[in-house]
Amino acid sequence: MIEYVYTSSAVGPFTEDDLLELLGKARKNNENLGITGMLLYKDGDFMQALEGNEDRVRELSKRIAEDPRHTNFKVLLERSCTQREFPDWSMGFQNLNDISSEEVPGYSTFLNSPLRSLPFATDPTLCRRFLLLFKNKTISVV
Ligand code: FAD
Repeated sequence: MIEYVYTSSAVGPFTEDDLLELLGKARKNNENLGITGMLLYKDGDFMQALEGNEDRVRELSKRIAEDPRHTNFKVLLERSCTQREFPDWSMGFQNLNDISSEEVPGYSTFLNSPLRSLPFATDPTLCRRFLLLFKNKTISVV
């Protein structure tokens, strides 16, 4: 298995409905592929973790990277792993615009930074730790 984390920027505004539509399809697809992970959204930027079978994650990440809805696709972390961090989520999701810094003690600086900012880009373990903060906070999509 591998874990894979990237950041990107939406090319246009993403409404709540756009996000929910994207998530609905992604969850169904990821479930079929045995891929789990977490998607964060903030001020037009995405950070997503994908984990699962190496070939499947690589194939999906390539498809996602080519999606015309976002740009500035940058891989932050790509490494083999033996266990999943998000086993219960075919794709967890948190809109960080809806969360206050008190909810993530110790990480308020990063909550107030763009997801594409330098600290995440230069420290792959930071983006991983940051994503894990939202493991138990994610919304569900009906
Ligand atoms: P189709 O849905 O038929 O897509 C055909 C083409 O149109 C693709 O290039 C697709 O990217 C593009 N497209 C689809 N919907 C729209 C739209 N509303 N507006 C403009 N172009 C569109 N998919 C997953 O399966 N799992 C994920 O975890 C996942 N995460 C994503 C994260 C982000 C930030 C984004 C932007 C997309 C994500 N996607 C995810 C969607 C993924 O990029 C593909 O759209 C999806 O996998 C279906 O692609 P498809 O080629 O099979 O089919």
